[in-house]
Amino acid sequence: MKIGISACLFGDKVRYDQTDKRNDTIIELLKGHEVIKICPEVSSCFSLPHEPLEIKDDKVYTKSGIDVTEQLYKGSRKCIDQIKDCNFVILKAKSPSCGYGLIYDGSFKGILIKGNGVFTGLCLENGIEVFNELQIEEIRKRLSQTDSDR
Ligand code: SF4
Repeated sequence: MKIGISACLFGDKVRYDQTDKRNDTIIELLKGHEVIKICPEVSSCFSLPHEPLEIKDDKVYTKSGIDVTEQLYKGSRKCIDQIKDCNFVILKAKSPSCGYGLIYDGSFKGILIKGNGVFTGLCLENGIEVFNELQIEEIRKRLSQTDSDR
């Protein structure tokens, strides 16, 4: 299978604070599959490190209050082009770009609310199946399916 993954989950130091969120369980699960690493924030030309971002009222802001919505959409659309023929994607939970199901509420106080990141929203709009890194069993099950099972 061909699978898209948030680059930080694969060990790339591309998070806003120039760290990664390497997930060895997922890396192991994906052995033998074609992996396409994407980072919507890098594709949006945010420098590293950069200010943290959060979503408020469907707009994306830096912690100091700069509206970077258009910038993030631009890079996210580039990433869609990279993964559109993938079987599915595995994205980093809670990120304003890659979050799936839960994101921070825009107050920069660590409060989670229901919602998806900008890139995740575009994936879903484009019919791309999404998992986050917390859904290990679901990912394992999905990888065991053959193309004809779908
Ligand atoms: S934008 Fe996505 S891939 Fe890039 S650092 Fe954030 S969560 Fe990871």
